[in-house]
Amino acid sequence: MKIHLLPDEGMDIRRVRRIHALLEETDGLIDFRLQKPVPVRTVAEAAEFEELYEVCSCARGALRIPSNEYLVLLTDRPNRMNHFAGMDISEPRNGYVHAGEWNLYLACEDALPVAFTVLNLVLLHKSEPDQTLLTAVLHQKPIGCVNDFCGYKADVIFKLRTGDICEACIERMRRHGLSDMYLEHAIRILGHLSGQMKHHFAFKPKLELSSVVIDMCEGTVTLPDYEDRMVQIPPISLAYYVLLLLHVDGILNDAWQQDPIVKGVWLAAYRVLKPMQSERELAASITAHCASEQERNSRTGEVKKAFEACLGPKIASDYVVKVKRSVCRLVTLPRERVTIRNFNSLDAVISGDEVLESAWRMMKSNA
Ligand SMILES: [Zn+2]
Repeated sequence: MKIHLLPDEGMDIRRVRRIHALLEETDGLIDFRLQKPVPVRTVAEAAEFEELYEVCSCARGALRIPSNEYLVLLTDRPNRMNHFAGMDISEPRNGYVHAGEWNLYLACEDALPVAFTVLNLVLLHKSEPDQTLLTAVLHQKPIGCVNDFCGYKADVIFKLRTGDICEACIERMRRHGLSDMYLEHAIRILGHLSGQMKHHFAFKPKLELSSVVIDMCEGTVTLPDYEDRMVQIPPISLAYYVLLLLHVDGILNDAWQQDPIVKGVWLAAYRVLKPMQSERELAASITAHCASEQERNSRTGEVKKAFEACLGPKIASDYVVKVKRSVCRLVTLPRERVTIRNFNSLDAVISGDEVLESAWRMMKSNA
């Protein structure tokens, strides 16, 4: 089995070599070939999948890579859906791995999870060559298997830690023709990479993180585990923070203007925090904020400033809004630590949205 690594020429070549070397460190039959870097040009900062697959397709042709070998593009460029990796449905041995931003999830050198994800992508294809049937293969609830879906992206740490393949997935790969020689080698590589990552996981014991209680009627943010310290966030930014807390996986750039629920939740939160303001003023303010990235950056800055004033920059970083390039905004604080009180009107706004409803139920039930 041959897996070609195709680096984006925008990547640091030493890092690319390191990723390749990590995959080669474990002796065995899977052959990892490093190809020359290629330019990756995209219309927007965040790539469309088709643009990445087009790069793969051209390179496969130019390099005359046979159709039974894998070609994986490595790129720091984010993609529009914020995925870790993906394979082309029409040319399923072509895929990409997003090599950037792993430091949001763990503190080890990022070549390790990137190398892991390259092999993971190939194993996923071996688990189910028909990409349209992948949903049935992926574990929606993480069990520490390479085929964990990780809809909540921070869950990826679980499978990186275990470096394991569950029995059902091993059987599936065998059924689809992956021989034990390769399987055995793949498992050793995963274990080797996982072992190196284990020493570096940025796990902070949960005790270090305070729970966060937001009272919408009072407009207050309290940290009960830090002697009830209060974080002073202005109403418009607090409403923005609550909106992001509800979107556990973050909010993609397009959604600010296109998803009515984003605007609806922000408005609902702002309304509770500013009961004296007229409905017209509230709506105009939220519309302006949804339309302007600059405004959203200001809200992100205000939340950061408030937490830093209360906790100092180092501890505050667990609580603030993170911006992944221009693609996605998210708060990585575990939601079981968050309680939101007195926001009863939200139920009507998110009715029918299963993802938000479940996040909301969790945050309410903490009360
Ligand atoms: Zn599995």
